Amino acid sequence: MSDRIAITDSLGHKASALELDAQSPESGDSLEAQITLSYANHSRLSEFDRLVYPVISRRSGGLSLGINLNPDKRCNFDCVYCQVERTDDQPVAEPSLAQLEQELRHWLGSISAEGYRGYPLRDIGLAGDGEPTTVRILPQVLQLLLDLKQEFDLPEAVKLVLFTNATGLDRKDLAPLWPSFYRANGEVWCKLDYWDARSLQQLNRTSVPFERLVEKIIGFGRLYPVVLQSCFFNWQGQTHIDAGYPGYVALVQRLLDAGVRLQKIQAYTLARQPAEAEARPWSDAQMDLLACSLRRNLELPVELFYETGLEVEAAG
Ligand code: SF4
Repeated sequence: MSDRIAITDSLGHKASALELDAQSPESGDSLEAQITLSYANHSRLSEFDRLVYPVISRRSGGLSLGINLNPDKRCNFDCVYCQVERTDDQPVAEPSLAQLEQELRHWLGSISAEGYRGYPLRDIGLAGDGEPTTVRILPQVLQLLLDLKQEFDLPEAVKLVLFTNATGLDRKDLAPLWPSFYRANGEVWCKLDYWDARSLQQLNRTSVPFERLVEKIIGFGRLYPVVLQSCFFNWQGQTHIDAGYPGYVALVQRLLDAGVRLQKIQAYTLARQPAEAEARPWSDAQMDLLACSLRRNLELPVELFYETGLEVEAAG
């Protein structure tokens, strides 16, 4: 038997995973035979030339199909907590629309009305080893998802989720697709770990200026709903956010005041040790204090993800 791989959920943690045999996507029948359930957590899927990966997520309560649009692992952020292993000689490789369609058709064809092995399909997520909105063929990928959702008669409730750091949300070639994307139960989940230019530089290490990034979120979020995904952790021995988290609260309030249609905040901490050893998870107590502060200061639902907890607390 060849090497086995396991895939975690879209937050990178708190998921059981499907293990599957690392073979070519064409061998669908034997792939089916090899899948087992596991809580193990091993290699990244991209090492096996797959673009679509299945996830059993406690958060979503079912099966998610993840799409890795960045098999070359390139990203315009360099987050200190990133868990993607990169090397300097990473080849440039754009995902192939044909391969993506083939893999999606395989998986969607394997999922019956009852779901897959008892797990209903909950969502299809665009994420992976880099930033999806930097990928040239993203408009074609979104159109493919819209077409396949219709062709396979997927329930309205199955979400299409784009995970992004917001850098490409203002792309002109994406603009015509957003109305159909949202009509098809699409959601945009936007990274927001920073609260000013300094924290953006320290934690996300990008050349994209802070104000430019905020403008992109405001420009998009005024038109369409956005979910914020924020990672809270210690960096180099400091929590980096003062008690009450005033900087973060102020930035989120600025977005709200600017008319951004924020749906909720997903606040999470690290669940696996990233490459940077100086990034450490917050304790459950710290996360509880954070949630209290956010819920007290912001009129937004907050979902909380602990380091090892399975709990998702939602508050109105
Ligand atoms: S945006 Fe995502 S992929 Fe890019 S460095 Fe940050 S965590 Fe890694």
